[in-house]
Amino acid sequence: MAEKLNLFINGKFVKSNTKNWINVLNPATQEVLCEAPCATDEEIEQAIAFAREAFLSWRETPPPERSRVMMKYQDLLKTHQNEIAEILSEENGKTFEDAKGDVWRGIEVVEQAANITPLLMGETVENVAREIDSYSYIQSLGICLGITPFNFPAMIPLWMFPMAIACGNTFILKPSEQDPMTANKLAELFMQAGAPANLLQVIHGGKEQVDRLIKHPEIRAISFVGSVPVGQYIYKTGTEHLKRVQSFAGAKNHMVVMPDANKNKTIDSLVGSSVGAAGQRCMAISVAVFVGSSKEWINDLKNEMEVVKPGPWDLEESGFGPVISPQAKEKIIGLIERGKGEADCLIDGSLCEVEGYPNGNWIGATLFSKVKTDSEIYKTEIFGPVLLCIEVDTLEEAIKLINKNPFGNGTSIFTASGRSARKFRHEIEVGQVGINVPIPVPLPFFSFTGWKQSFYGDLHAYGKQAVRFYTETKTVTERWFEEDEESSKNLTINLE
Ligand code: NAD
Repeated sequence: MAEKLNLFINGKFVKSNTKNWINVLNPATQEVLCEAPCATDEEIEQAIAFAREAFLSWRETPPPERSRVMMKYQDLLKTHQNEIAEILSEENGKTFEDAKGDVWRGIEVVEQAANITPLLMGETVENVAREIDSYSYIQSLGICLGITPFNFPAMIPLWMFPMAIACGNTFILKPSEQDPMTANKLAELFMQAGAPANLLQVIHGGKEQVDRLIKHPEIRAISFVGSVPVGQYIYKTGTEHLKRVQSFAGAKNHMVVMPDANKNKTIDSLVGSSVGAAGQRCMAISVAVFVGSSKEWINDLKNEMEVVKPGPWDLEESGFGPVISPQAKEKIIGLIERGKGEADCLIDGSLCEVEGYPNGNWIGATLFSKVKTDSEIYKTEIFGPVLLCIEVDTLEEAIKLINKNPFGNGTSIFTASGRSARKFRHEIEVGQVGINVPIPVPLPFFSFTGWKQSFYGDLHAYGKQAVRFYTETKTVTERWFEEDEESSKNLTINLE
């Protein structure tokens, strides 16, 4: 019998009373790693009640004191980085190096949260009218909710709860049911960092649990990261229930290859950014747009891509891991099959096998050329190790093509020309732009700024700006009367 994963409620790991359990599988073997509970309504209510009570005292805790918890937490995360990465690799399948990177990008956010106090400073203007002063305070909200995807089980929860909690809120995390064990490890270390009980609760489950949480009257703000249909649903339902919502969704990221680019660096970057992490990154490059004579490099790209092979997380030579589930594999293979009728398939990874791992969700690196923008493989987010090549004559055409795509998460250009780079940066309608950088994920003192269907809601979403999402701003306008002053005539502010 596989171990039953606990919920994290009231500062303790507790066994759920649910009858519904989800098998969490090792994607390289299908071994059942644990069973994750679908928390009952009662357990969700308990978690919310504890979070509510904890909020009342936590919001009174001075920000420097809150920061100290985060300082200790980032230290513990660094000490336990390998241990977290092992759990993460087992349940997600990504290689150990990749998993360590996943944890590290989360640690960077905790470092930001540990420096929260200056970010919580309000603003002041003296004499907004004669003898009247105005100033604003930044105050905490209440209970915030995070719903996270499978592909970054450490980084994405860490995008959310450390900032929300450092801002004086309490937090309920609903991690992906496909790899929920990492979240429990993050919670365990958070407790060890000396966080008072009940700042963080971890509720496991799927749609039913999400539905109860996003409609709950006590939840003030919702952070979601995941696919487009679910992202739209969370955004619509959350706002319908009058919550503050930020919803990061899917992507189809293009890299423009100019003929003047450094050929070797471009090809290396294309391979790493398209098949790395089995293409299961929201910032993965899934379309290469070759401008002019750079299309002659497609054959070199093919040769380099063929060498990169998937394998288990703990084998150094594994270029990337399996995809997350048999269902994901089936969907990706279906799209590869479809693509064979729509474009030229230069490498077909659909029959990939890995010795010693007959049951893994393996898909090998796959490459298509001569892809059309009305094809299904172009229009769908494949979320697998599949790269599509498109050829155009000019940079203008490449920019136009990318701007027509409904997604706008990330993009990049490889070029030696400052002029081309500048034009691209200025005209492209995508939130995160790399110049000779394939995956331009911003560090947490910047915002993560998906455009179009890659993001819905409040842009104050991530990093430094997250303070504005997880807080209320209260503006005070102030005037003081003399004791004997006749006050009635002064009650309105004359700003003229
Ligand atoms: P998903 O949308 O299937 O699941 C995300 C979360 O939503 C999970 O916690 C899941 O339990 C919950 N969920 C799933 N279906 C639901 C439903 N019908 N109602 C309510 N809740 C539901 O996403 P995923 O497959 O775990 O993650 C991959 C997706 O996430 C890709 O589309 C990827 O592009 C996207 N992603 C985006 C970003 C970004 O920053 N824009 C970052 C990472 C991943």
